[in-house]
Amino acid sequence: MPNILYAGQTYTCEGQSVLDCLTAQGISIPSSCRAGSCQTCLMCAVSGTLPELSQRGLKPTLVVQHYFKACSCYPETDLEVQLPNTALGKFDAQVVSLDALNDEIIGVRLRPISPFPYQAGQFINLYQNDSTARCYSLASVPSIDDTLHLHVRRVPNGVVSNWIADQLKVGDTVAISAASGDCFYVAGQAAPNMLLIGTGSGLAPLYGIVRDALQQGHQGDISLYHGSTQVSGLYLVEALRNLAQAHPNFHYTPCVSDETPPADYRHGMVLDVVLKDLPDLKGYRVFLCGNPNMVKAAQQEAFFAGASLRDIFADPF
Ligand SMILES: Cc1cc2nc3c(=O)[nH]c(=O)nc-3n(C[C@H](O)[C@H](O)[C@H](O)COP(=O)(O)OP(=O)(O)OC[C@H]3O[C@@H](n4cnc5c(N)ncnc54)[C@H](O)[C@@H]3O)c2cc1C
Repeated sequence: MPNILYAGQTYTCEGQSVLDCLTAQGISIPSSCRAGSCQTCLMCAVSGTLPELSQRGLKPTLVVQHYFKACSCYPETDLEVQLPNTALGKFDAQVVSLDALNDEIIGVRLRPISPFPYQAGQFINLYQNDSTARCYSLASVPSIDDTLHLHVRRVPNGVVSNWIADQLKVGDTVAISAASGDCFYVAGQAAPNMLLIGTGSGLAPLYGIVRDALQQGHQGDISLYHGSTQVSGLYLVEALRNLAQAHPNFHYTPCVSDETPPADYRHGMVLDVVLKDLPDLKGYRVFLCGNPNMVKAAQQEAFFAGASLRDIFADPF
């Protein structure tokens, strides 16, 4: 009979699901429908082979990270499992540089002191102290960059963003969490074209995802739209234009809504510009990051325009 190793203890699984096996031992595992639909009981396999049923319906980004539904997992071999993030501790990282990307966004580069696995576009928690942390998305690509890149927008009166902007110094050591989130590129997926829409520092994960996809030789079209009210709110414009010149399948469109921009920018709300350019999103993988109102509206519009819900990834912030 297969054994389940959880939090250092071994439990024998007698024809039960992982969820039933662990809860029968008095272990608290979040769950709701217990029928494979709601994904509340999502866990992560550290080792062992997961039955296909336990991952059915999960996004490919979760599948490759060995997430599974505990209620639908009837193991056939021994499994070591954990709740998402429980075994993912803190890492120390050194601040390598702090640079203004525009008037309100700071580029922060961190060098983790120990090996730090991540995917471009995931996010980390950056700790100001033991009890205060905020999420920041990863704009760097593991196979290209030797440091972690964050784009931090200074939020008026914001505790952590202003601490980063005003007090963090090159050479400081900060604590960060392991990377999490499913907003990243997976090669070889059915949806050949990619649409990425961001506002403000929502460009951070998208910049990572685009460069990762290009580095991995993605063949379909990759269309990135970055929106701001003012031209001055955009950043990395030249870098992205250069990337587009080097890769014919990558298209970059900077959009400005509240002032008339120069000719090589588009005028209008970023989502309106996208829908004008790409009214049919059937077969697109869609990544949406930044302003929560834009992300919510874009999720709906992308679905109405034909994108499958499974192919829409969003980080509102
Ligand atoms: C998955 C994820 C990824 C993220 N990635 C990034 C990133 O790459 N870059 C980045 O800059 N931020 C990112 N954020 C947002 C970030 O985690 C913080 O919320 C942000 O930096 C504000 O933290 P603070 O401590 O400065 O402000 P707080 O002290 O938490 O807030 C101060 C005040 O500002 C308001 N406020 C908080 N956040 C915002 C906001 N975004 N816009 C307007 N008002 C706000 C609050 O309501 C409050 O009144 C991400 C958030 C999530 C959940």
